[in-house]
Amino acid sequence: MMRLSQRASAIKPSSTLEITTLAKKMRAEGIDVIGFGAGEPDFDTPSNVKEAAIRAIQEGFTKYTPVPGIDELRAAIAKKLEKDNNLIYRPSEVIVSCGAKHVLFNAIMALFEEGDEVIVASPYWETFLEQIQLMGATPVIVYTDESTDFQVTRELLETAITKKTKGLILNTPCNPTGAVIDREHLKAIAALAVEKNIYVISDETYEKLVYEDAEHVSIASLNPEIKELTLTVGALSKSYSMTGWRIGYAAGPAEVIKAMVNLQSQSTSNPTSIAQKAALEALTGPQEALSEMRLEFLRRRNYIVQELNTIPGISCLKPKGAFYVFPKVSSLYGRTYQGRTISNSKDLASYLLAEARVAVVPGSAFGSDQHVRLSYALSMEHIREGLHRIKEAIGKLL
Ligand code: PLP
Repeated sequence: MMRLSQRASAIKPSSTLEITTLAKKMRAEGIDVIGFGAGEPDFDTPSNVKEAAIRAIQEGFTKYTPVPGIDELRAAIAKKLEKDNNLIYRPSEVIVSCGAKHVLFNAIMALFEEGDEVIVASPYWETFLEQIQLMGATPVIVYTDESTDFQVTRELLETAITKKTKGLILNTPCNPTGAVIDREHLKAIAALAVEKNIYVISDETYEKLVYEDAEHVSIASLNPEIKELTLTVGALSKSYSMTGWRIGYAAGPAEVIKAMVNLQSQSTSNPTSIAQKAALEALTGPQEALSEMRLEFLRRRNYIVQELNTIPGISCLKPKGAFYVFPKVSSLYGRTYQGRTISNSKDLASYLLAEARVAVVPGSAFGSDQHVRLSYALSMEHIREGLHRIKEAIGKLL
């Protein structure tokens, strides 16, 4: 047996991937499972983007590129940030990495170490916690709930600040709750961060997926002081259905970007050359596919929320963004089926998988055992059938 490093032994595998893998395995065995676990759009990558990648291959654009990405792509990202996010950055203040996850890894490694505390709001995307711990820093969790539409507030953050607080991770729109932090809340959080000199990593991976009157606001755009403290993280993964292409980016203070580039130069080097050309086309080409996808997500969100709320024991807020709902299911705890008691979110997820052949992700994976997460990145037909099965299975609980 090889003796692993403490670092590797301590890391937990991604539980969202775990449940999707399990559902896939059941499907391979011929069991018809409906998966609400997916963390990626079910739409294909737009064809103009695919064609740009094919062209890149045919033209021989298949070699190393500069570590932080090709100049045209960094410039296109800077332009996008100006147009969409009201943020002015030079291309040299932008880094392109292998997906937002890799960007975050570089950023957290560049900024945090042992002795540092980093505040994360629950429900959270578990990768934040794991990456912070991997760097030897300590995640400090603050708990949000339905009373603020799962938005983190200045007041809540204040309770968690100590002398060791170095950073804060924001995620708007949020995975898993779909919460979008509104401008007023962000202003108050920005004022606190500036007052206490706390660095902000703002994960805006789902920025394009906001619905109806919700507005996506980049905290760094609020004033020059908060911009100095903030690293804005984005990706093409969810906006352009490009999860497999692995392109994400960050923009922020030059010295942080430079440190991230140095780290990247000693690990992955550049993100894939071909994917960079595809990303350039995604950002600069036609944007229709994006609006169509957003419309379809909106339709599904409305349906799933409405239906979930008709199931006794389940209550679900209508999230303003992303493609997840995060219903509260804890009033089902204590109920039984054939002698088996549902005591927590994992029990409920296992029950639904076994009894309803429906995969949902236990809320405990995101810091709230009272909830489960359902993605609506699956067809309406599957959503309908899946909800029907859930309703039936829940009806059997005594
Ligand atoms: N940030 C959040 C909040 C996410 O939910 C995800 C993916 O699920 C990512 C980042 C990772 O995105 P990427 O696929 O670009 O690494």
